[in-house]
Amino acid sequence: MFIGHFGVAFAAKRAVPAVSLGTWFVACELIDLVWPLFLLLGIEHVAIAPGITAFSPLDFTHYPWTHSLVMCAVWALGMALIYQYRRGTRFAATVIGAVVLSHWFLDALVHRPDLPLAPGSDVKIGFGLWNSIAGTLIVEALLFAAGVALYVGGTRANDGSGRYGLWALVGLLVVAYVSAAAGPLPPSVGTIAWVGLAGGLVTTAMGYWVDRHRLMRS
Ligand SMILES: [Zn+2]
Repeated sequence: MFIGHFGVAFAAKRAVPAVSLGTWFVACELIDLVWPLFLLLGIEHVAIAPGITAFSPLDFTHYPWTHSLVMCAVWALGMALIYQYRRGTRFAATVIGAVVLSHWFLDALVHRPDLPLAPGSDVKIGFGLWNSIAGTLIVEALLFAAGVALYVGGTRANDGSGRYGLWALVGLLVVAYVSAAAGPLPPSVGTIAWVGLAGGLVTTAMGYWVDRHRLMRS
């Protein structure tokens, strides 16, 4: 799953406005931000296997440290504790943890049964929505659109950056999603990792930037 995670982040900003949209982006994508680093370090592995699902050509052969349920919960707890330590608000920290953890459950909806319960566990979860291109697009588009609608309804731009920056960000996410879905196969695992890291950095930076140029509606 890709832009569906961002739908959760936009909705979370509406629910807990004190947290920056950029921080919500980090939360919803946290395990996908660590995953490319672990690929580059050889800690986790992915293979390019065209046709393995209708939607995604990736065979997630080994990623227990980012994408097992237990480790996702550990990352969630870690980010929640760091936020609480730095900002001191338990409610916001709790929602941040929930958003990090939501990544695993949304991934479980679309992936083949390749998400382990815990490192070393042979139990793998995945409900395989990626076997249907239409089903995948509908679910992700609905999640994303609902999140963006909640965010737009709860905030207003205080300048041009807030107005056009938001739509540039939304457009970038949609274009990135469509080109990942309909574009050519990634040439190598290294490319997947570097594109993932760069995309994560750009979207996170844009999240912090847009957040500073939009106010909550009172
Ligand atoms: Zn993921």
